[in-house]
Amino acid sequence: MGYNDPMRTALVLDRRYEAHDPGPGHPESPARIHAILDVLSQYRRPGLITLAPRPATPEDLALNHVPAHIARVAATAGRPFYAFDADTPTSSHSFETACLAAGGFLALLEAIMAGETENGFAFVRPPGHHAEADRAMGFCLFNNVAIGARYLQRRFGIRRILVVDWDVHHGNGTQDSFYADPDVLYVSTHQYPFYPGTGAAAEVGSGVAAGRTLNIPLPAGCGDDEYVAAFADIVAPVAVQFRPEFILVSAGFDAHRRDPLAGMTVTDEGFRALTRFLVRLAETYAGARLAAILEGGYDLRALQTAVPAVLDELGGAHAGDALATPQPRSGVLDATLDAQRPFWDLHRAGAE
Ligand SMILES: [Zn+2]
Repeated sequence: MGYNDPMRTALVLDRRYEAHDPGPGHPESPARIHAILDVLSQYRRPGLITLAPRPATPEDLALNHVPAHIARVAATAGRPFYAFDADTPTSSHSFETACLAAGGFLALLEAIMAGETENGFAFVRPPGHHAEADRAMGFCLFNNVAIGARYLQRRFGIRRILVVDWDVHHGNGTQDSFYADPDVLYVSTHQYPFYPGTGAAAEVGSGVAAGRTLNIPLPAGCGDDEYVAAFADIVAPVAVQFRPEFILVSAGFDAHRRDPLAGMTVTDEGFRALTRFLVRLAETYAGARLAAILEGGYDLRALQTAVPAVLDELGGAHAGDALATPQPRSGVLDATLDAQRPFWDLHRAGAE
């Protein structure tokens, strides 16, 4: 594979992200970070830099969370075990790890805004997209990507932010944070019906933000063809009309064919293709500014093959176009197209 003038990509990678321990047998395990550190220790391409994370401050967390929630998570510090719900246990180091997760993403955003890198990927845990302003759930304590979007708005004055969430689960927390904000376009592809139950196509945002939530619910068994078609027929044309100044990616890898929790069949090449769409959109509208953050993804081998594929594309590899003509299941995007046509020109999509 060749690179013509590769883009710089900053990686947030740190062993301290292994310190949050949800207990034996929990899929959101420290081994996920260990597996990524292991494979990326061998990964080389031009333009890679590594960033040191910092802990998010209480003020950072308060960009998206109410004080009572921050206090509840902080109160778990030093306690060997606490559980916000059956899925979301904590250990003595969970609070500090969660602060480092949100802060690691903010460090990446700062580096991009300072022009030290074009894009980047924060490999953090615990993940964030299920966390609501006042609630931890679904393995998530603080909503890292939502804190990041608010940080871009408040600290840097970024006006239009596109958040693309390709984690196999719907990011209820992120949707909730921006449901009435017309300046943040939240786009989610997810298995549906599935945990957490939200994410129907008819959930489109409220008031002046109608059309600024874009849900693409997909039945179990979908794979590269459906995901690439969703990006080609919906995500890309909507993004062109929205003209984002910054693209954030909730990059889970649990839609991967190997994943044990979900029922999708996306391959490494599929994740490569989705990344390529977003890199091109970022180059065209956002000065190439794109920041990805790890959400789910519970098969360690899948993480070790899909993550390098995404990093190749963040560098601008544009390797191959095998998925250029997807053949999705008939009608799989219709509910989203119908729900979003009042807000976006999607005239051609699905019309063949
Ligand atoms: Zn997930």
